[in-house]
Amino acid sequence: MSVPILRPGDKDDAVPRMKRVLVRELLKLGLRPVAERVVLDSKTYGLAAVNAVEKFQARKHLRVDGVVGEDTWRALGIDEPVVEPAGRVIVAPGANKPGQPISSMTLEYVERMAALLHRPLTITTGTNHSQLTSSGNVSDHVSGHAADLGMAANGGAVDSPVGDRIMEAALVLAGVPAATARAEAQGGGLFNNTRDNMRIQCIWKAPDHHDHVHVGVRPA
Ligand SMILES: [Zn+2]
Repeated sequence: MSVPILRPGDKDDAVPRMKRVLVRELLKLGLRPVAERVVLDSKTYGLAAVNAVEKFQARKHLRVDGVVGEDTWRALGIDEPVVEPAGRVIVAPGANKPGQPISSMTLEYVERMAALLHRPLTITTGTNHSQLTSSGNVSDHVSGHAADLGMAANGGAVDSPVGDRIMEAALVLAGVPAATARAEAQGGGLFNNTRDNMRIQCIWKAPDHHDHVHVGVRPA
């Protein structure tokens, strides 16, 4: 078993468990009023629990940041490995132009890829992209409908198996049968698929796409 790093606002199956041990520890510390405000059965790591974690961290002389990472899990008496939660998507600094976020449609697609892969994914380029693609078409990036998953930021390298797996997940979620998705990901190229009124374009191991997987998700 492992436990995820929990950040304020996260929604995760591990949250109720964290809250139970937190309340137990707060009661031991004589902080009953703080403990009683924690909403035990909610999977959301909300404000009352964040406040309680911060009080707990202060008493334990930990960094007071509300983030339940390795030190805080240990102080709560949980000894399991601490991992980034599956499904987490990190948008790297500078990936987007200021005030121009990635569309929720595209972001949610990448979140599903991360959940499928049981690992966090980092988007290295979102809307901070030139108007035109290398082939001269208007890029899906500009409208917030594309995400690049750079190899270096995701633990891979040029044409690496890490990219194959990310590409495979993108294709599977686009409705490509798993065996076909694996073969297409390993072979590389540009693939367009339509599913649930989305047009999903996946590019990997193609010209200009050896160091990142491109996933473009826009209304079909
Ligand atoms: Zn791209």
